[in-house]
Amino acid sequence: MRDHSRAYRRLCASILDSEPLCRYCRAEGRISPATLIDHIVALSLGGSNDRSNLAPACVDCNAAKAVVEQRFVARGYDVRDVMFEPELAGWIRMGMV
Ligand SMILES: [Zn+2]
Repeated sequence: MRDHSRAYRRLCASILDSEPLCRYCRAEGRISPATLIDHIVALSLGGSNDRSNLAPACVDCNAAKAVVEQRFVARGYDVRDVMFEPELAGWIRMGMV
């Protein structure tokens, strides 16, 4: 579920403060400023709002990852099936450092 609380916004700000670069770009050797917080395992796939599931990201990575997630959900999969979707598994692996 989306979290619109002040505590969640503070958490996102503190993550961006401590890790200002896109984690997905870094995993691929690129340096891009992070402008938002991405759910490593999407909320639509059962991911949480815990810090461990949040990664600083750039708009491009967030959008590209969302396309893969939406396709995955549309096919009726959930996070337990992620090993069947290498592209999505790759994104999740890059986010979990
Ligand atoms: Zn990026």
